[in-house]
Amino acid sequence: MSTQEYFDQGELVAVLTAQPLDRTLDYKAPEGGCFLGAFVEVPLGPRKVLGVVWGPGQGGFDLSKARSVIRVLEVAPMREEMRVFLGKVADYTLTPMPAMLRLATRAPGLGDPPSMRKVYRLGNGEPDRMTDARARVLEVLRDYGGLAFTLKELAEQAGVTSSVVKGLVKQGAVREEDSPRDLPYPHLDPDLPGKALTDDQAAAVRKLQAGMRTGDYGTTLLKGVTGSGKTEVYLEAVAETLRMGRQALVLLPEIALTAEFLTRVEARFGARPAEWHSGATMTERRRVWRMVGQGDAQMVIGARSALFLPFRNLGLVVVDEEHDTSYKQEDGVHYSARDMAVLRAAICGARVILASATPSLESWANAEAGKYERLDLTSRFGDAVLPEMKTIDMRAEQMQPGTWVSPSLRQAVRQRIEKGEQSLLFINRRGYAPVTLCRACGQQIACDHCDARMVEHRFLKRLMCHQCGETKPMPEVCPSCQVEGKLAPVGPGIERLAEEAEATFPEAKIAMLSSDLFGSARALKAKIEEIAKGDADIIIGTQLVAKGHNFPKLTLVGVIDADLSLHGADLRAAERTFQLMRQVAGRAGRADKPGQALLQTFQPEHPVIRAILSGDEEGFWKAEAAGRQAAGVPPYGRMAGIVLSGPDVGPVFDIGNAMARNDAPIRQIGAQVFGPAPAPIARIRGRHRVRLLVKAPKGAPIQDALARWIAPLRLKGDIRLAVDIDPQSFY
Ligand code: ADP
Ligand code: ZN
Repeated sequence: MSTQEYFDQGELVAVLTAQPLDRTLDYKAPEGGCFLGAFVEVPLGPRKVLGVVWGPGQGGFDLSKARSVIRVLEVAPMREEMRVFLGKVADYTLTPMPAMLRLATRAPGLGDPPSMRKVYRLGNGEPDRMTDARARVLEVLRDYGGLAFTLKELAEQAGVTSSVVKGLVKQGAVREEDSPRDLPYPHLDPDLPGKALTDDQAAAVRKLQAGMRTGDYGTTLLKGVTGSGKTEVYLEAVAETLRMGRQALVLLPEIALTAEFLTRVEARFGARPAEWHSGATMTERRRVWRMVGQGDAQMVIGARSALFLPFRNLGLVVVDEEHDTSYKQEDGVHYSARDMAVLRAAICGARVILASATPSLESWANAEAGKYERLDLTSRFGDAVLPEMKTIDMRAEQMQPGTWVSPSLRQAVRQRIEKGEQSLLFINRRGYAPVTLCRACGQQIACDHCDARMVEHRFLKRLMCHQCGETKPMPEVCPSCQVEGKLAPVGPGIERLAEEAEATFPEAKIAMLSSDLFGSARALKAKIEEIAKGDADIIIGTQLVAKGHNFPKLTLVGVIDADLSLHGADLRAAERTFQLMRQVAGRAGRADKPGQALLQTFQPEHPVIRAILSGDEEGFWKAEAAGRQAAGVPPYGRMAGIVLSGPDVGPVFDIGNAMARNDAPIRQIGAQVFGPAPAPIARIRGRHRVRLLVKAPKGAPIQDALARWIAPLRLKGDIRLAVDIDPQSFY
């Protein structure tokens, strides 16, 4: 990399753009020159595009033909550590640099000069008459507290036309004001009094803070049972980061979790941090991006892509629920936010805290190997005790056809209702029934575009494909044999379970929690708050409820099908089941009343089920680690998935076969190729999918080998190739 930091006007500079090109482009530095890393606007054909000055120009062409940079944008130049980070992520994930730059500039209007704009807030006036549309506008403003919206955002959020908002402004119910586009975030004060910590917690905090003060990179696995106070502990590490004048980033897996978390941050530091996630408005995103870059946001909480924000002085990254699969992005740039957080911290001398009650085997193994420090919190805070866990042996239960709640579980739920406590029935399947079968011809209704069954959603009154999202009305006649009235649902989804619960407990108040049942993140948050206050006797939920929510009145968790994720070819099936079951069970008994978790299973003797019950976690991890080591799979070996896809299956397979034949670069590093084979989901959105898997010894230069393997390929027509390093799901 070049060490030249500044380019005079007219000097040739190489500019990286987000356009799909395989190289940087040369331009002349503009009037006034420009710094390395500067964000610039450059001409490309007839367009103007965003770019970053990446180094001195390559030259080698007629210089009189070189065009000039149009202007340097008024934002902080990209820091060297960010350029290094993007380059390393690109190398690791085999992603072209323009795609990396897109990831790092996901905020609109970056180049706009600082300016004023109109924003809208709640006013003091009353509208002359209230309409539904007006009420929605006021509700949105109230819901977001003091937040200001642009006209477009407010109208969109409320689902009204802008004239409705303007009408409210005239009457004083909504206030219109001028405001600078991007304001610094309110100051967070690390020295406000925190909670009194338990001895365990205080010891963990001391270690984390000592680590912070070294100013060097280091990763800590913070393992603590649910409710042990991991959040309290890492907030104290955040406090130390802020005291040192550095920035903290907290990654959360689920945006529904952020509401409770924001309140806790505000209680601890006196103000709210910046938020970065898909639910944030465009204006907020732009503000976060700019303020992070100039150091006017001390703390960010966000989804995985927050890792690519231009922090000025990042000192700490917390990855909460680090085992969560949503940290792996599986389209576009395939990256693991957990792993890339460690990489980013190593580059900029920051600390990483990986927090979980059920860490991934990867992190467990890294701690075992001494690469990560490990801190354990072993008991719940206060009087809360861990739930008692038991199986219900489904072979011994008298089940009515078409029902899924066993008599034993029913009785346990009934007891809670009588005591005024809450029960959670957990099933990890959205919709009414996973399969719709024709009783005349035996066919199952499938998606027209995917190799997947359509799932009945009664709530929406439609069939839905969970691969491509396509929906269609529930047909009257079988699409295969045209016989009428023979279509029947098979198996349970969350909606069908709710139906059963309603019939079994007619007096109970039932709440369903599933990601598809709520139009907005806001509605989901509201529902979760309602439930936490006790406004439900029975909660029926998918894995959404397994993630960190706090329901104080919940004392019983019933898992409808503990065997569901045990099977399947996924090398992490056991690990995932173990994590999910223990997370779900952890929802029970978080306040003063003890909790119980009942797991319905047909295989109570299965080693994974036994490990879940026994609570011998270290034993489970050791056995799982030994199994993976013997098989040479992650984290003791490396894998990469290659998916080829196209509209016709033949040509796709031809390329797959050619790759398998010409696998010298792979063999040279001692790795093996499996496939090509139809991917487990062999067609998505009309595209046929063929998969190859590469398995390499740990430490083998797999990216390099893959790059050499793929380089000679000439993909014709509409055939695409996607590489997934360290795949987490195999579909
Ligand atoms: P975890 O993140 O491990 O699930 P939390 O940090 O959310 O645990 O703590 C669980 C509950 O216990 C929270 O309501 C939290 O406020 C409370 N809590 C934990 N530690 C303390 C403490 N030292 N003082 C007061 N409340 C605490
Ligand atoms: Zn589909």
